[in-house]
Amino acid sequence: MNNISVQEVNGVGPKLGETLEQIGIQTVEDLLYYFPNRYDHYEQKPLHELVHNEKVTIVGEVIHEPTVQFYQRKKSRMVVSLRVDGAVVKGVLFNRAFAKKHFIPGEKVSVNGKWDQHRLQITIDNYKQGKIDGGSPITPIYSSKGDIKNAQFQKIMKNALSSCSDQITEIIPASYLENYKLPNRTDGLENIHFPSSFEQLKHAKRRFIYEELLLFQIKMQLYRKRNREATEGNANQINMTKVKQMIEQFPFTLTSAQKKSLAEIFKDLQSPYRMNRLLQGDVGSGKTAVAVISLYGIITAGKQVAVMVPTEILAEQHEESLKQLLPDDVKVQRLTGSIKGKKRKEILTEIKSGSCDVVIGTHALIQDDVNFHHLGYVIIDEQHRFGVQQRNTLREKGILADILFMTATPIPRTLSITAFGDMDVSKIDEMPKGRKPVETFWVKHNMFERTVNFVYKEIKNGSQAYIICPLIEESDTLDIQNALDLFNQLLEILQGKATVGLMHGRLTTEEKEQVMNDFAENKVQILVSTTVVEVGVNVPNATVMMIQDADRFGLSQLHQLRGRVGRGDKQSYCILVADPKGETGKERMRIMTETTDGFVLAERDLELRGPGDIFGVKQSGLPEFKLADLVHDYRALETARADAVEIVENKRWKDSQYQSLFKYLLSQIEIDQHLLN
Ligand code: ADP
Ligand code: MG
Repeated sequence: MNNISVQEVNGVGPKLGETLEQIGIQTVEDLLYYFPNRYDHYEQKPLHELVHNEKVTIVGEVIHEPTVQFYQRKKSRMVVSLRVDGAVVKGVLFNRAFAKKHFIPGEKVSVNGKWDQHRLQITIDNYKQGKIDGGSPITPIYSSKGDIKNAQFQKIMKNALSSCSDQITEIIPASYLENYKLPNRTDGLENIHFPSSFEQLKHAKRRFIYEELLLFQIKMQLYRKRNREATEGNANQINMTKVKQMIEQFPFTLTSAQKKSLAEIFKDLQSPYRMNRLLQGDVGSGKTAVAVISLYGIITAGKQVAVMVPTEILAEQHEESLKQLLPDDVKVQRLTGSIKGKKRKEILTEIKSGSCDVVIGTHALIQDDVNFHHLGYVIIDEQHRFGVQQRNTLREKGILADILFMTATPIPRTLSITAFGDMDVSKIDEMPKGRKPVETFWVKHNMFERTVNFVYKEIKNGSQAYIICPLIEESDTLDIQNALDLFNQLLEILQGKATVGLMHGRLTTEEKEQVMNDFAENKVQILVSTTVVEVGVNVPNATVMMIQDADRFGLSQLHQLRGRVGRGDKQSYCILVADPKGETGKERMRIMTETTDGFVLAERDLELRGPGDIFGVKQSGLPEFKLADLVHDYRALETARADAVEIVENKRWKDSQYQSLFKYLLSQIEIDQHLLN
């Protein structure tokens, strides 16, 4: 049915065919997969069970002849009194004066429409003389894109189902349907459009949710297979003795989570397969250590490493920490957009000749004029900021090196296997020993001055503080104005007793660096900032993170900000200043004070705000599913994922049971044929 034109369906002529094509429906299959976006259903209930403002069905006896008022020119309003369960209900019907004759005193009538609980009144949409037994059929309602009437949709769906039902081939292997008790494709399609009960509808939906997720996950597993393809010379000859010596030089012992991640990474680096791995770990969990150890491994194998970070400030910070952690004979360079002219040329030459081992930079690193002598490993920090697009750019540039993406955003599993299902994942789910969890408080705005005094006390003890301005997404100008206001307010309260710095997006790179350096060296004690400090900045002497209008931020973002403190030995504090209006806002503040576990927060954020907001809709790379919902259908997602892994690992496309599944999948996506050998 995916090769039968929709115009073959009875009732679809060239004109309707064209309208359908405009909304993406070309084949009978497209049509049948255009699912209703809701269902109407009228079911009679006793008066006391009716819900205010909902659509309800009422059966009552007409008490006396309805009254009809005409107004303006063609409009009318009919009012009828009905006796229902011993009460009197008023029915109002607009612009259908002719209906009066159907409401006969003493006779029963069924009406449905919107219920007004307070006035005991129903605004009638439809009515029927006499009683209805049980309820009306469940009516599919299609989104009316392209000006196609609902009745028209219903009609052509019916026609398509009756004329093409013998052409609907099952794509899910029978054993799966049996295991999960899912209806077959024909019944599923029939029941998702014209269910005879909600039970039936539920199972039809379950089937298509599973189908959708399974196809998606198989696709991701095939991409994963493609991404891991063996490349000549990729198996790195790492000198593990040297690596071990380096680890011994570290001022701390690795956590077992760090060791486990390292083992996974080294296995990939030494294998002929290309690594495509996501390293997930909460802020402060020690990802940098893992990155440094693994990159040193590549250097002992005689290759170069590129480290990509989202901002210039981070590039500089990383350069510093790498130089500290790596043996002296490793040559580290930094290449960012602000490095220009002669200096840039020199660095490019070093990269090309191979005399430089590690290059740290921003996007500038993947520009056309950057040629490596022998690039073996690319580490991408704060991966979500690079987005799917940049992820692809790397592939398109023919970078065949092993790739490690690092993210401090705890990503709920359902999202990570969806957005990053094409990657392998290592997780650092344990904090180094002896960390003091950051204490979090929620205060109201009227406590601002007291809070500033608390900050001041910390500073007198030699610590430092961040104060983050409210997030104003739509407006750069307002953002900066806010920062300035806050900055001035602080100067006034503190009266020169502490040094305050100001950081915002309008500053030049040099100015930002200056402020950041001053803060790192404790020349600035309080840093007022817009959210530019969000990612990766490391100033262990800072013990207070104060966030203005904290309710404007998502939980994950608040957690990121909180992660800027608690990096040293001293007890740290996070102060959320907010007067949230809604329940959700209050709930968010409470959750923040209750847990410091990033994964717990991420799961809660997902529930409270939905998937789009977790890393920003645009960058998320999350696919749009027709039916599946990543929050509610997480079980189906896990199942589909496990099945997809099994199917691809065992090359099930060779089994006859799976023929139609793969045939169908390949009609939907482009995949190199050789992957299916
Ligand atoms: P992340 O990059 O995950 O936010 P970092 O790698 O910057 O975390 O580590 C945060 C801090 O913890 C650093 O100061 C680092 O030196 C320290 N650290 C890392 N691993 C350990 C460990 N196993 N034990 C003690 N401290 C550690
Ligand atoms: Mg490899």
